[in-house]
Parts: sequence; structure tokens; C-alpha cells
Amino acid sequence: NLKVGIVGVPNVGKSTFFNVLTKSSAPAENFPFCTIDPNESRVPVPDDRFDYLCEYFKPLSKVPAFLNIVDIAGLVKGASEGQGLGNAFLSHISACDAIFHLCRAFEDDDVTHVEGEVNPVRDLDIIAEELRLKDEDSLMKYLEKLERTVLRGSDKKQKPDYDALSKVKTILVDEKKHIRFADWDSKEIEVLNRYLFLTSKPCIYLVNLAEKDYIKKKNKWLIKIKEWVDKNDPGSLIIPFSGAFEHKLVDEFDDPILRKKHLEEVGVPSALDKIIVQGYKALQLEYFFTAGADEVKAWTIQKGTKAPQAAGRIHTDFEKGFIMAEVMKFQDFKEEGSEAACKGAGKYRQQGRNYVVEDGDIIFFKFNA
Ligand code: GDP
Repeated sequence: NLKVGIVGVPNVGKSTFFNVLTKSSAPAENFPFCTIDPNESRVPVPDDRFDYLCEYFKPLSKVPAFLNIVDIAGLVKGASEGQGLGNAFLSHISACDAIFHLCRAFEDDDVTHVEGEVNPVRDLDIIAEELRLKDEDSLMKYLEKLERTVLRGSDKKQKPDYDALSKVKTILVDEKKHIRFADWDSKEIEVLNRYLFLTSKPCIYLVNLAEKDYIKKKNKWLIKIKEWVDKNDPGSLIIPFSGAFEHKLVDEFDDPILRKKHLEEVGVPSALDKIIVQGYKALQLEYFFTAGADEVKAWTIQKGTKAPQAAGRIHTDFEKGFIMAEVMKFQDFKEEGSEAACKGAGKYRQQGRNYVVEDGDIIFFKFNA
């Protein structure tokens, strides 16, 4: 199960954010929502297409795609040297596939900051450096082992690993950058995928603002954070949000009508949908739909999955006995208005074993039982 870990220094609002996500996505509706453990939960991925299909088929059961989110508490300066249970927490990050790096740009005299005054750029540096140091530590151990075998020529198979890790060393140790910072070819990525470095995981920066700043879309730190990300992690996404604002929404406005009215009054949406959708994308995940009167369901797959393996998500027999996939594009289905109309328009297609499933495909699998 792929998951995103919430990372940041203490008292920046991680747990609040995690709880808000968990609560807001567990409405009285009929989602098979569940909390995996107190620090891990599955939140439904919002999607208009899914809503449309549910509205259309009015199925007995509705199952959206889920994003798994883990609250990783306790990363402090010195974690890579074991401060504050540091290594345990770093290993929790290692089990995640992407990172929400949360930083605090709200002032609140009642909420102390472990490093003194509020300064999200310093905090980003602290966490980034801890992750880098942890990777450096692991890397040097791997390299030491490989040097014994590869350099003595006793194990040629390990040469690609050695070469890729040597390049990692240049980035990580010499240039003191994160692994994400460099460009990697497919062979190197294949190696990197086996070593699970923390700084190779995709990262999204979440900036926790005071409610009024979020509503005004103004805060003095935003530009500095942007500069930091451009320099240290170019291309990564920054999403401003407000824990206080989101907390209020789930706490005081859990009634959908009141909530809508409140959001119209303040004139800004909740940031949670965007955060969930982007987190899901960062994991390189997508989904196809099965849709009918019994059930509308989103099936999570890795990008690039072919039809038989996608069928295997539903049942191993579907993959073993795969005959074909009958596919409608969501957009076609919506435009044509029905399955029959899609068939009439030649937009209901039979696809074979080599078909690469696309996000939002509506699929009916045929297979030998
Ligand atoms: P964590 O240590 O990063 O998990 O931080 P917590 O979520 O436990 O929050 C630490 C403190 O900050 C708590 O007292 C929260 O009530 C408070 N807090 C969290 N988010 C916000 C926010 O957006 N605004 C304000 N003013 N306080 C917040």
C-alpha cells in the first residue's frame, strides 16, 4: 500500500492537519472509511468523475480511490544522530512513498516553537538536512559494501549499483543536495528504487498559514519559501493551507449547507481536496472505474499498468483468464450520455493484453473463468 508521510518539526500543526483530514473525509456518508492505526488513515480522493458516475448509476455501493496518509511525529534537529527517537521516525519515513513536508508560517504566542521564533525557511532547512544526513549515512554503508566486491572485480553484476550510488554520492555528499535534485536515467532510477533513499521521494510542501492570511492569500513567508524550494527542490509543489481554517470547517461547519454558505462568505475553498489529489499524483497513481447499478468503484493502479494487470486488481482470475477489456473514456461516456450511445458512436472499444490503461477509463473485463 503506497502512502504519504506528513513530516515537519514539532508544533507546526501536523497532527491537527492529519486529524482534520481524517475527520473531514469521514462524513456520515457511506464510505468504507477506516483508520488503519492512530497515525495512519485512508482518505477518499475527491473526483468529479466518480461523483458523476455515482449520480448516473445510483449504485448500491460506492467505493472511491483512497490516499493513505501517515502522521510522522517528532522529527527534530539531530534526528539523524538519534535525537528525540530520531532514527525510529526516520525509518517511518522510509516506509512512505512520498512526503508532505509541512511548515509553519502562522504566529501564535500560545503555541511555542521548538526553535524559538517562527521561521519556516529555517525549519525547511532543518528537516531537509536531517533527511539528507540520514541518506548520507545509509549511502556510505552501501558504498562501503559495494567497494569491497565491485572494485575488486569479484562481482560485476553490482557495477550498475555502484555507478549509480557513486553519482548519488556526488549529489548528496559533495553538493549537499537531495537526490531528487539531479536528473536520473531509467537505469539509475531502477537502482534508486531498490535503495529507498528518503531524499529521492517526491515531496509536496504544505505551508500552514493563519486563517486570515489564508483567506487573503498573503503571508510574508510565501515568497521566501518559494525561493527555498526553487533552489533546493525545483519543480516541487507548494500548497498554502490553514490548519485553523480547516479545523473550523470540520468543527463548526460540518453541516454541508452551512459549510457551503460559510465558504461563499469567506470566498476561498478548503485546501484539502487539492492536497489529497496532488498527494495521490505524487505517488504516480491513477485509477480506472468499474461502473454499474451494483457498484461504482475506482481501482488504484500505477501509471502505465496494462489491461490484464489492471484486471488482476479486481481478482487474480480476471488476470489469469484475461480475454479483453471493453473500455469507454469517461469524457466520451459523459458526452454521449450512455453506454449504448458510446457503442453507437464507436467509442466503446475492445482492447487487448497490451492496452495501457488510462486514468478515468471505465472498463468492463471479459475473462475465462
Ligand atoms: P505537530 O507537533 O506538528 O503535530 O503540531 P500540532 O498539530 O500538535 O499543533 C501544535 C499546536 O499548534 C496545537 O496547540 C494546535 O492547536 C496548534 N495549531 C495547529 N495548527 C494551527 C493553526 O493553523 N493555527 C494556530 N493558531 N494554531 C495551530
